[in-house]
Amino acid sequence: MSDRSADLIELFSSIQGEGLLVGLRQVFIRFHGCNLSCAYCDTESTTPPQYCQLEGTPGRRDFTRSANPIALERVLKLLEGWQKGWPGINHSISITGGEPLLNHEILVDWLPRLREFLPICLETNGILPKALAQVISCVEYVSMDIKLPSSCGSETKWEQHRDFLGIASRKNVFVKTVIDNTTEEWEIVRTCEIIAEVAKEIPLILQPVTRMDGTVGITALKMLELQETASGLLVEVRVIPQTHKFIGQL
Ligand code: SF4
Repeated sequence: MSDRSADLIELFSSIQGEGLLVGLRQVFIRFHGCNLSCAYCDTESTTPPQYCQLEGTPGRRDFTRSANPIALERVLKLLEGWQKGWPGINHSISITGGEPLLNHEILVDWLPRLREFLPICLETNGILPKALAQVISCVEYVSMDIKLPSSCGSETKWEQHRDFLGIASRKNVFVKTVIDNTTEEWEIVRTCEIIAEVAKEIPLILQPVTRMDGTVGITALKMLELQETASGLLVEVRVIPQTHKFIGQL
C-alpha cells in the first residue's frame, strides 16, 4: 500500500486539445516524473516539484501553491466541490504527466476513488506494460503516445509499445504520434504494424507538431503522404493538431 500521497505538478480543468477526446473538458491531474527524455520536452522531470499548483475554480486559473506530496483526500475534496458547484462541465479526468504510470502503486489507490466522480483517461507514453496491467481495470480511456526517433531524438521502444497496446486494448484506446517534416515513412509503417499486430481497428492520430501560435511544423503535402501511408495499413487514421494551442488553453 502506498501512503496515498503523490508529487503532483498541477491540477486544473481545461479543454482536451489532443486525440480522440479532443474538445471535451477534463480535469487534468499532472503527475511528476518521466522515463523518457524527448528532445522537444518542456516538462521538468528530474527534480520533484516542491509545490503543486491547484486550481480553485475550474478553468479560471486561480491557482494556489500547495506543498508536495498531495494527499488523495485533498484531491477528492476539491473534486467533490467542483462536482457540486459546476455539475456536468467536465467529461472525465485526465491522468497525465510526465509519465503517470511511474506512480502506478499510488494510482492503484487513487483511481478507484477518482472514478467515483468521473471516468478516467490515462495519458501515457506507452512503454510500461506491467504498470498498466495493475491499473487497467480502473481506466476507461487510454491515450497512448508512440514517440518517433526523428522527432523525439531517441530509439522507439517498439516491443514495449506492442505489449502495452495489447493490455490497453481491453479498454477504449487510441494511439497518437507527433509528425513533422523530419518524420520518415518507415516510422509510420512501423507504428502501424505495431498497432495492427494488436488490432487494425485501433485509431491512430497523426498529430502535426503545433507551435504556440497555432501554426504547424509540417507541410500539407508531407502530412497527406504520411496519412496515405497509414491509411493503407489501419482502419481509422485521423490528422488532429494540438488544438489547445490555438484556443488559448494550456
Ligand atoms: S514522454 Fe512527455 S513528459 Fe516524458 S520526456 Fe517525452 S515529452 Fe517529456
